Amino acid sequence: MKYKDNDKFVRTSKEIDQNRHTQEHIKRWSFIGEEGKFFYEINSPNSEYRNTLSNEVGYRGNDSEIHHHLTYDITRVKMIKKVNQDTDLVFGHITGIKEGEIFESREELSLSGIHTPPMNGIWGREKEGACSIVLSGGYEDDVDELDYILYTGQGGQDSPGGKQVSDQEFIRGNKGLVLSKEYNLPVRVTRGYQVQNGPEKGYRYDGLFFVKDYERIKGKSGYYICRFHLESEKSVQEIEENIQDTLPRDYSPAKRKETITTKVQRSVRLREKIKDIYDYKCQVCGIFLEKPGGMGIAIGAHIQGLGKPHNGPDTLENMLCLCPNHHDQFDAYSFYIEPENLEIVGLKNFEGKKLTVDSKHKLDKVFLEYHKNRFMNLK
Ligand SMILES: [Zn+2]
Repeated sequence: MKYKDNDKFVRTSKEIDQNRHTQEHIKRWSFIGEEGKFFYEINSPNSEYRNTLSNEVGYRGNDSEIHHHLTYDITRVKMIKKVNQDTDLVFGHITGIKEGEIFESREELSLSGIHTPPMNGIWGREKEGACSIVLSGGYEDDVDELDYILYTGQGGQDSPGGKQVSDQEFIRGNKGLVLSKEYNLPVRVTRGYQVQNGPEKGYRYDGLFFVKDYERIKGKSGYYICRFHLESEKSVQEIEENIQDTLPRDYSPAKRKETITTKVQRSVRLREKIKDIYDYKCQVCGIFLEKPGGMGIAIGAHIQGLGKPHNGPDTLENMLCLCPNHHDQFDAYSFYIEPENLEIVGLKNFEGKKLTVDSKHKLDKVFLEYHKNRFMNLK
């Protein structure tokens, strides 16, 4: 039996028999204690567990002996048990923990329930999403604007926080974050002392973020990385207020955003206009989905998305009228429109067909180009 670094062990409630159990045994069990220890702590060069073992006859201080004795403590004397850490992911805030709260160590952060895995930056699973990330440096392609984070996924480093030596894939925690975008799940963000916007010491819980976008791009190392765009549920001013006492002294406040009311009205007008131009028919499949009252179900979609990270303009030249299915597929980069000839590429049953464009609609191919590029990068 091989233990993993983040396997956790606790002392069982079985009583110690002073006549039968040696002081050495008792010492190592009490080192693990009721609060428990992770395997990497038990296995660390100077742990109490190792130290007491060094008094055993024939002990040579290697890892397999630690495994051997731990298994003995678990299965034979039953003084230690392995904690089942396969607990459910917990989404959203953790009861009793405020934004801005500081934890001294990753272990303390783990015990708080904010971020259970003691080493991984992402707490998530491939089929359940990701509920929490920790920013602790070590990824050169990370960008942190306090309310907006470009977060590099996991994998491909030679050691934790080390050099990127291979491509990252959308698997494990990275796949979890993809699902968090798909289902709009909240992700807890914690910043460590290692990052610029982090606290001076320890780890600070900075509240809930949502995954707005993800990409697979060539990082500074030359290897492909999975990168996630996370946006805070709060405005940058609210965040600054929550964590102002712990921000670095040289932190300069972010610029205030202009009011968005007029922008929203403009966007609604344009979305309605594009639907009118096409009589609510999808520009890809031509289907009209009728709604009671003669209107149709259609979506006025931006080709190059508005806002971060795309920063596309809110103009008719950057819009399409699509049915809900083709809108979802277009947004997910399942297909693209060839900018030069408006051919639909990558969509089954539509290969070789062209996008319908009305003479009243001046489409700008710059935006189709942008969308096509993203399609190519995600392939
Ligand atoms: Zn359609």
